[in-house]
Amino acid sequence: MKVAVVRETAPNERRVALVPEAIGKLTAAGHEILVQAGAGIGAAIPDADLSAAGARVVAEAVLYSEADVVLRVQKPTPEEIGKLHAGQVVMGLLQPLIDPQNAQALARARVTAISLDTLPRTLSRAQTMDALSSQANVAGYKAVIMAADAFGRYFPLLTTAAGTAKPANVLILGVGVAGLQAIATARRLGALVKAYDVRAETKEQAESLGAQFLKLESVADATGTGGYARELTDDERKAQQQELDKHIGSMDVVITTAQVPGRRPPLLVTAAAVRSMKAGSVIVDMAASALGGNVELSVPDDTIVTENGATIIAPTNLPATMPGGASGFYARNLSALLTHFIKDGKMLFDFDDEITAGTVITHDGKVVHPATAELLAPAQRGEA
Ligand code: NAD
Repeated sequence: MKVAVVRETAPNERRVALVPEAIGKLTAAGHEILVQAGAGIGAAIPDADLSAAGARVVAEAVLYSEADVVLRVQKPTPEEIGKLHAGQVVMGLLQPLIDPQNAQALARARVTAISLDTLPRTLSRAQTMDALSSQANVAGYKAVIMAADAFGRYFPLLTTAAGTAKPANVLILGVGVAGLQAIATARRLGALVKAYDVRAETKEQAESLGAQFLKLESVADATGTGGYARELTDDERKAQQQELDKHIGSMDVVITTAQVPGRRPPLLVTAAAVRSMKAGSVIVDMAASALGGNVELSVPDDTIVTENGATIIAPTNLPATMPGGASGFYARNLSALLTHFIKDGKMLFDFDDEITAGTVITHDGKVVHPATAELLAPAQRGEA
């Protein structure tokens, strides 16, 4: 099979869908790998390294005309969808639940679209394919590094002849994949770490990494389905904010990672809480997006300093800021999912299989992924 890797075009995207190690494995399995010239540049992987791993470096036009499967990180733009042809397969983080119109355009082009961000994450056989987890892991690590960089003092307790530096007080809000990595990273740097989440099971997980779990009186366990949190009621939300406000003022660094699937991120750090922080404190809002984030004052993809001297950093694509590490993990996830579909040298779609049903978004000119189809009118799904 001919498997192709495009050069990403989304602003600030520096990751690449396959790295030399993954190319070597797919080539050894008998596939031909085509890579668009310059695809690895953002991740500091020169074309020569991709060729040395067994890939053929080609121009964009050759790639689209020859490929059976096109691999990418971000969803294709309308222009890129125009370059795909009927029967081709495209795989990536396509965000069909955020942008169902893009899925509709792929269905119209009779392209089979496979998305890693709708993978059923609780199946143990799907763990190697879980790009949301691998990228959240990168993001949790990088958020702490950014916070430490922006913080004008030490994270660890340091005793020197010139005096003693106190350890930083760090609060992690949201103890999912990113939050757990943030706790571990802040602890490795020597900070005193507190953590909080609405899912009761996270207490033990946070404590096992050396964090002190913050227990709020106002919110009962809010575990939802599939390992995620449920959305809080209005009353719970207000009570949670008020109680959190009291803790935030005494923190040097706050890192927020809280998400609820399909909903806008919960507001956890109010403007009043930020005003209560000391000058020099740092907040990283990892949930920042055009829809809003966990921090009332955060501005997506910008860093602001408030009147009372708190710095608020709101990166929307942290994995892309660590492109080598993030691409290495992503390439593993993508290769595992691609291999799942290949039978006797061809892509085979068995919709009774949970991984196939969860990740194949469009097929045979239709939007076949139920949750995506629900977001579109019948005519748009390709059914009318
Ligand atoms: P996520 O990105 O959806 O959310 C991050 C965290 O924010 C979650 O822990 C959530 O509980 C928390 N949160 C939501 N609302 C909140 C609020 N109002 N206040 C405080 N915290 C709030 O989650 P994720 O990291 O993608 O995954 C969540 C969990 O799913 C993980 O902890 C993991 O255990 C589980 N998971 C399981 C598997 C598996 O079983 N193989 C794979 C991946 C993830």
